[in-house]
Amino acid sequence: MYRRVIIFSCLFVLGGCIYNNEPVPQIVYNHSSSTSKFVLPKVVKPKPIRKQVNYNVPADWLPPSGLEKRWTAIVIHHSGTENGNSAIFDRWHREGRHWDGIGYDFVIGNGTDSGDGQVEVTFRWRKQLTGAHCKTPQNWANEDAIGICLVGDFNKTAPTARQMQSLLKLIRFLQRRYSIDQSRVFGHNTTPGARVTDCPGRLFPMSRLKSSLGY
Ligand SMILES: [Zn+2]
Repeated sequence: MYRRVIIFSCLFVLGGCIYNNEPVPQIVYNHSSSTSKFVLPKVVKPKPIRKQVNYNVPADWLPPSGLEKRWTAIVIHHSGTENGNSAIFDRWHREGRHWDGIGYDFVIGNGTDSGDGQVEVTFRWRKQLTGAHCKTPQNWANEDAIGICLVGDFNKTAPTARQMQSLLKLIRFLQRRYSIDQSRVFGHNTTPGARVTDCPGRLFPMSRLKSSLGY
């Protein structure tokens, strides 16, 4: 019995930020009536996909053209763990959460269980599925935003230089392909409608990243 409890606790702790972000819609009280309402994030109309550009990126970053969705935003996460990779998070999310697999589209390694700066593409991106990385009212972020997870606990250490280089290259590719403005590149904690969280960590250099992005 105790062993079961310990195993369950470990899975919970190791699960990273996703486990701490159950959907909690933001509620605003309307004082003119007794009813309350959801605050919906700004609806952004998707732009056409720019398929003819030579992106010069790894082939697996390009989704199958017959399935490709018109994404409108990007959400950045940290794993909240010191180590990990796509396969490890996939197992946690299947076994710990009983999801259909890893919640993110991309995982960027930190040299522990995958290469430092290595970009792993998950089944979610290959099949262009709705994500499971950021709950919001009406699930807009999982539906419309691409989820990128960097391995690491950025409340304790900053991401590696190679992780940031890969992240920048990946975001620039996604921005160009889907015409995503840099104002639509969010940390989990600044995603409209997302529950309060410190993900992607206090040491994640969001303002430096934003200043490096075009559009
Ligand atoms: Zn997160």
